Amino acid sequence: MDITDPVDHNAPGRHHCALLADPDAVGRAVWGRLLRARFPLVLEAENGAEALALFGRHKPDLVMAKIQMPGLDGASLALTAAGTDPHVPFFLLGTSRQVTQLVSSVFLPTVRLVPTPVDPERLMPLVEDAVRVAALRRSAGESERLVRFFLDASPHPQAIFSRGRMEYVNRGLLRCMGLTSFHEFQAMGLGLSDFFRVEDAPLADPARFARDILDDPLDREHIVSLVHPRHPGRPAHVFQAAAARLPGTDRIMLTLTDITELEYEKRDLIDLATVDPLTRAFNRRKLSEILADEISRARRYGTPLSVILFDIDHFKRVNDTYGHDAGDAVLVEMARLVMGLLRENDRLARWGGEEFLVVAPGVGLEGAAELAERLRAAVAATEFPGVPGVTASFGAAQYRPGEPPEPLVKRADAALYRAKEGGRNRVEKEADDPAAPGGIN
Ligand code: GH3
Ligand code: MG
Ligand code: MG
Repeated sequence: MDITDPVDHNAPGRHHCALLADPDAVGRAVWGRLLRARFPLVLEAENGAEALALFGRHKPDLVMAKIQMPGLDGASLALTAAGTDPHVPFFLLGTSRQVTQLVSSVFLPTVRLVPTPVDPERLMPLVEDAVRVAALRRSAGESERLVRFFLDASPHPQAIFSRGRMEYVNRGLLRCMGLTSFHEFQAMGLGLSDFFRVEDAPLADPARFARDILDDPLDREHIVSLVHPRHPGRPAHVFQAAAARLPGTDRIMLTLTDITELEYEKRDLIDLATVDPLTRAFNRRKLSEILADEISRARRYGTPLSVILFDIDHFKRVNDTYGHDAGDAVLVEMARLVMGLLRENDRLARWGGEEFLVVAPGVGLEGAAELAERLRAAVAATEFPGVPGVTASFGAAQYRPGEPPEPLVKRADAALYRAKEGGRNRVEKEADDPAAPGGIN
């Protein structure tokens, strides 16, 4: 390679300016000639202070300096200059001894220590490489800043993950967590798992969550909700999450879209369609669905299924004596009380007026009668607001394989009728079950 090639200033990859600092005029002449073959502009300084001034004024692409210089030495020059621009490569030339002394103290990744004498043929390719790497690093830094600028300008909460770690959180996401800067977020030792939940559990591994969305073959809807750790009682914000791989990198961008309003509207609609507005028990419509599902499950798995129909005793009197509002309050409290006593699999529906139906999967007639007895005793022992002596009567029936829902409920109703006839505040089992004739109370 001929290092004295004439300079082609327009060739791609050419860099503009090199700074040479050497107190020795001969050294400056030799290295200056070599550098001019690659840089259209080579600035020369006789000492470190002069070099630092030129560095600040001309922003060179490369600095070649002697380690030993009067005043500011090479190492100090490199360290000071790095404070202004950390990307500029430095080649510090000195005797083997000077180099050895510096090896442990100059730790900048952009600094190379070169023991002299050195073969320029071997050094110049390294110089070119260093300048190229510096240019790449600089442009990578600029791209990074550009990406962050766009992320921060986006109205959507977004985060970037790289190799399983969170790399950046944009302003939109910080804002919804009540924070103002990424720095603050990191300084507080917080993670997204402190704020976000998926299906009622903390979002334990957000990077993995993002990757799972990316890899989801079914392209399902992924929902996260935001609960602020300082305000756990506030209604959660609901977000739809999407993930994208940034081109050419191993980075994944997670984007959240606030669907809180839509989600609450959807929940209200579902609520309206399934829940009795006064008592919050399921309504008749939803009950038909529940019964049909449970019957088909009982049939498929051969498990027992029972229902309990109950009716408040002398409720007309409650209304007449204490007023309709007091009656309503009894209904609300009755549903709350019973729902609190049921297992997770049991369901309570308002059958009509002051009648309720419990669907108890996995429970046979005896179990249902025992459950009904527990409910009866609890109702009788409860003080309903402003209405003394509220009781209810109960009828229990067990599903018989192959039958539709109607006869099952009818048998429970007949048992309830007998409980009323028998004096109220009682539990009766279906009568025509040969296995268990008669009531238990
Ligand atoms: P029994 O012990 O035989 O069940 O007597 P009862 O008075 O409860 O009998 P009945 O079933 O004839 O009366 C039910 C009453 O429940 C009639 C109705 O006014 C009242 N009721 C039905 N729905 C509501 C409601 O939503 N709120 C209030 N306050 N009362 C209701
Ligand atoms: Mg009644
Ligand atoms: Mg009734």
